[in-house]
Amino acid sequence: MAGKQRSADAVVVSAALDERWPEARCELLARDPWELLVAVILSARTADARVNQVMAVLNEHFTGVEAYQDLDPRALGSFLARLPLHRQKARAITEAARYILYRCDGTVPRSIDELVRIPGVGRKTAAVVAGNAFNHPAVAADSHVQRIAHRLGWAIRADAVVAEAAIEAAFERADWVRRCHQLIRLGRDCCRPMRPWCSRCPVAGTCPQVGVSDAR
Ligand code: SF4
Repeated sequence: MAGKQRSADAVVVSAALDERWPEARCELLARDPWELLVAVILSARTADARVNQVMAVLNEHFTGVEAYQDLDPRALGSFLARLPLHRQKARAITEAARYILYRCDGTVPRSIDELVRIPGVGRKTAAVVAGNAFNHPAVAADSHVQRIAHRLGWAIRADAVVAEAAIEAAFERADWVRRCHQLIRLGRDCCRPMRPWCSRCPVAGTCPQVGVSDAR
């Protein structure tokens, strides 16, 4: 790493991300905030394309948050049976529906602070919903974002809270949502957990590759 800075230049990273992935956006398909919340709950350890397939089936049977409130989680789970964690996901969706109907007048709340009060909704899920359904500046620090923030030298470790603060400090507030989608693309295409493809990475010129010992 001789000659490189200890942390990447955020302006250079921004320009490189915009050039390589200008179209990066949320790949979960949803027609309203409730559908997006369901999709994000389903996305744990599941590819977005698979989630979209399952959502298409759910949408044939259930419309709106009201349709989920009286569902037995086991009945919902039968639609999710091939997904990882399907029992937990079914329970989280039905509990979220009841909470939103009885505590939020049937409307998905808009802020992260309100969203994280919903049973089964963590900070990353809340940030995805706030950012993509309501256009609120929000950083969804998933495992890609955590890993990349660390390798770029912006976060002392790959950790959700540290990465969220690092991304907020590095980028313009108005760009947070888009940058997270671009970093996810970077993580999938180049900055893999094992043996990252630094040779074809658009930010390699400024990245200190913190903790990377076996790059391609
Ligand atoms: S792929 Fe390599 S150069 Fe690119 S962000 Fe990851 S560690 Fe840095």
